[in-house]
Amino acid sequence: METLGVRQMLTKAQRVQLMKEIEKEMEDHKDLLSSLRRQINSDETRQAVETPDDAATTHEGLISVSRTITRVTECLKKLTRRWNDLKNGFDGLCDDCGGDIPFDRLLAQPTTHHCITCKSKGEKEDRRDFGHAPGHRAFMPMQ
Ligand SMILES: [Zn+2]
Repeated sequence: METLGVRQMLTKAQRVQLMKEIEKEMEDHKDLLSSLRRQINSDETRQAVETPDDAATTHEGLISVSRTITRVTECLKKLTRRWNDLKNGFDGLCDDCGGDIPFDRLLAQPTTHHCITCKSKGEKEDRRDFGHAPGHRAFMPMQ
């Protein structure tokens, strides 16, 4: 019997629980999306765009709303993908090391693809790439 690296793959009940959590989040995201879209399409916004004095401010506001829409849409896509994964028997293993992602972590962040170890490794690499060597990449010779 294996004693090290025990695989705690998700049970069916855990998968169902995660799917329910994701469904709730999907609903929230959809509600948010429709209220954001209403904001963009509202008569008030349209009128303001046609009034030169307000147009610039409204334009900035619209850009920020449409950025939020993009972000929420992306998030919704990830949720949908993970929901489908779970439906197809996703076992809760990390994409990088194949170790199990703790159920609590999945509950807190249902769309994650990595265990805590790989996730924190990734964050360190990000810091190294973008933090400690500014402009480094700009001086790399073209391949
Ligand atoms: Zn991992």
